[in-house]
Amino acid sequence: MTEEKSAAKLRQKELFLKKENGYDKMDEASLAGMNEYCESYKHFLDNAKTEREAVKAAISLARKEGFVPFKRGMSLKPGDRVYLSNRGKSLMLATIGTRPLDEGVQICAAHIDSPRLDLKPYPLFEDGGFSLLKTHYYGGIRKYQWLSVPLELRGTIIRRDGSSVEVTLGGEPGDPFLVIPDLLPHLANAQSEKPLGKAVDPEAMNIFLGSRPYPDTEVSERLKLAALNLLNQKYGITEEDFLSAELCAVPAYSACDVGLDRSMLGAYGQDDRVCGYAALKGLFDAKAPGKTAVCILADKEEIGSMGVSGMQSQAFDTFIDDLCGCLDAHIRTCYEHSFCLSADVSACYDPNFADVYDKRNSSFINQGISLCKYTGSRGKSGSSDASAEVMGYIRGILNDAGILWNVSELGKIEAGGGGTVALFMANRNIDTVDAGVPVLGMHAPFEVTGKLDCYMTYLAMKAVYEA
Ligand code: MN
Ligand code: MN
Repeated sequence: MTEEKSAAKLRQKELFLKKENGYDKMDEASLAGMNEYCESYKHFLDNAKTEREAVKAAISLARKEGFVPFKRGMSLKPGDRVYLSNRGKSLMLATIGTRPLDEGVQICAAHIDSPRLDLKPYPLFEDGGFSLLKTHYYGGIRKYQWLSVPLELRGTIIRRDGSSVEVTLGGEPGDPFLVIPDLLPHLANAQSEKPLGKAVDPEAMNIFLGSRPYPDTEVSERLKLAALNLLNQKYGITEEDFLSAELCAVPAYSACDVGLDRSMLGAYGQDDRVCGYAALKGLFDAKAPGKTAVCILADKEEIGSMGVSGMQSQAFDTFIDDLCGCLDAHIRTCYEHSFCLSADVSACYDPNFADVYDKRNSSFINQGISLCKYTGSRGKSGSSDASAEVMGYIRGILNDAGILWNVSELGKIEAGGGGTVALFMANRNIDTVDAGVPVLGMHAPFEVTGKLDCYMTYLAMKAVYEA
């Protein structure tokens, strides 16, 4: 009897896929590597609250790693490291491999824009004793989450004379914060009756900028004047300068550890800078690639990857074509032999909202990088759906490198849906699969990830570049 049982157990061990908590497989060295990686990731997050800041922070790190600006027609040899900033809003980097570009490149593509509140073109007005800023949300936010949250202002203003000024209000220690106060519960009876998505009027998401009037009782709009006066003193701007500006309100706190055991990491904008940083650091640390390794940190993913700095832009094709030009290869041949890891976050299983997940096909915390064969909604609509061969290929890379990984769906069928840049890479005739870090509270002003998953995602990117 006992012998039969142990035979069955053995058979089970041979045949069953075992999903384990990654901490059971981490040795001391891996844990130390994970903690060191996550500290550097937190530091990156604090310096990268917009796509522009992320590009700047990434370039500054890349230069220290020996990357130089790419110039069309430059001579390149294996081991050379180059980067190209696309208008300061997206970034492409490459480490030249030993094999010809016609044999393809290994790409990790992540995005560095995150949901936020942009200022409208005519933002400034006064009402009720306050100066206020009108906002227009960017990306798929749940509006109620952004009220009564400390905010800061980041962005760029092009002044009338063409000069540019960087705005970081709230970015320095001791800086004041801004806020959109929420409605008090005592007066929320009518609002509480509304569906959640309708409870907050986006036209009422106005940021409180100040309350002290300009000290001259003779003029009207003294609150607006006082605000503009301060902005003029600090940034040298007038009201018309708002018309040529990109100003974003983003959460004002720094990245931090989460949990008594510090196993998690909380911050604004982890979607998708958690994969962006992994793609970047993986490229830095990848040893002597055979195929050329390419990292792209794209903009505009949260609003459809459109525009000149989004993943649909020909800026990427131009970069690859220019690399091919330098190395005597053809872009179409290069693409058809290339592989892309579309690095974006997935939905971490959340026991508080269990009914939106298929528990058998969800990404759980501490199981490593999560592959998504397909995203989209309903019948996989809008997904590029990686082939069995592509799944087999990435599975081989991850297993060979000893990386913890799993495969997941975003959530239950018809619970909702979402997409990434994957289809835009696949449309280019590049074999592509989605993979990334599972996130709790995705798109909230404070997103949570597992440190182990962040680290495994970095190791996975490194392995893809080295494959
Ligand atoms: Mn994303
Ligand atoms: Mn997103």
